[in-house]
Amino acid sequence: MRRRHILVVGAGPVGAVAALACAQRGHQVTLLEAQEGIDDSPRASTTQPPTLEILAGLGLIDEYIAQGLVARTFQFWDRSTRTLVAEFDFARLRGETAYPFVVQTEQHKLANMCIARLSGDIRFGVEVVDLEEKGNQVTVKTRKGDFTADYVIGADGGRSTVRKCLDIEFEGYTWPERFLVITTKFDFQKALGCCLRNYMAGDGEWTNLFKVAGDDLQGRWRAVYNTRADETDEEALSDAAVRARLSRIGVPEKEQSYLHLNLYRVHQRVAKQFRKGRVFLCGDAAHVNNPIGGLGLNCGIHEAWDLANLLSGDNNLDSYEKRRRPLNIRYVQEQTVANKKRLEQRRLDDLKETAADPQRHKAFLMRASLLESSRDAIRT
Ligand SMILES: Cc1cc2nc3c(=O)[nH]c(=O)nc-3n(C[C@H](O)[C@H](O)[C@H](O)COP(=O)(O)OP(=O)(O)OC[C@H]3O[C@@H](n4cnc5c(N)ncnc54)[C@H](O)[C@@H]3O)c2cc1C
Repeated sequence: MRRRHILVVGAGPVGAVAALACAQRGHQVTLLEAQEGIDDSPRASTTQPPTLEILAGLGLIDEYIAQGLVARTFQFWDRSTRTLVAEFDFARLRGETAYPFVVQTEQHKLANMCIARLSGDIRFGVEVVDLEEKGNQVTVKTRKGDFTADYVIGADGGRSTVRKCLDIEFEGYTWPERFLVITTKFDFQKALGCCLRNYMAGDGEWTNLFKVAGDDLQGRWRAVYNTRADETDEEALSDAAVRARLSRIGVPEKEQSYLHLNLYRVHQRVAKQFRKGRVFLCGDAAHVNNPIGGLGLNCGIHEAWDLANLLSGDNNLDSYEKRRRPLNIRYVQEQTVANKKRLEQRRLDDLKETAADPQRHKAFLMRASLLESSRDAIRT
């Protein structure tokens, strides 16, 4: 294998995985991160079986599981009647994967784990502002000097400077509503009898409930809601509105305190190209989607792994975009849009029937877990 100098822009979870995977394959790695540290805002935690297989390949799996919560099931609820409609059990994937469950580990923990094992040149507080390809090299420009490498991986998130510098269109749209994440210590499992991952459909408003371990491993819940399209950010974040939302899923008044609030804009967008010359886009820099189903980051990690392998062989580098772009559209964009519609329209009868039929149950899980996407990736 030819040792290459690979420069990764962005030390989010995808950039950190890409950097570690490239370093483990013997490449010289430079990782540039604009912020002074790893962003620990509450975003992804759901890690699907094929992603766990990759984390095992990186040598992270034991620590990753120890830092999170293992969730074998997920449930769909009718929020208005507070009744359980359907439960899906990853145990049905036994024989298909060594990890028939998801692990709920917050994404900043993954980035930190990768960086702790990375022996390359890691620079925080270095923001990439431009890049230029000349001959067989790419020069990345920052306010703290230029860096030159054989290849660049742009893993600098949804607002990617790398993508903009390459003048690649980010095709798609932005939803009018935003998503509100309320982090609370209220024990929904005890109060409702739900599991660690729950999707609650409702008229006008839905709620998703997830338990994560937290940095202290004491456990906390994230309740994710859609806002009304005409609701201002200020209104959605007001204490009265947050408490009203908690009330609507049964949290008693005296237990409505919360640890954090986060309000996110939500998009469905895919970059028109995933590669230009010696520069590749990976993770949110290449695609963004609504978080229902926990797919976006997982897909980004699959890309980082795929790319590290491609850059380590005599493979045709064109195959990266050819394979990854359609996979994101088919398995992440289409699925997350369908997941959102299902919650909004309370279309749960079909799910009940799917969960009750062993074959359909497994087929649903193969797609929802991205195992089908991973099989498809091997074929293309
Ligand atoms: C509420 C919510 C819940 C979610 N839940 C899930 C889930 O359960 N499962 C799932 O798969 N996905 C989920 N997602 C999506 C997931 O959070 C993203 O897909 C993930 O953060 C993408 O990682 P990334 O490394 O590509 O980008 P980011 O995490 O955005 O990291 C990009 C990094 O690049 C740095 N950077 C930016 N510009 C520059 C520059 N010019 N120079 C240098 N550095 C730069 C940034 O500072 C940042 O550290 C969720 C998202 C939200 C909002």
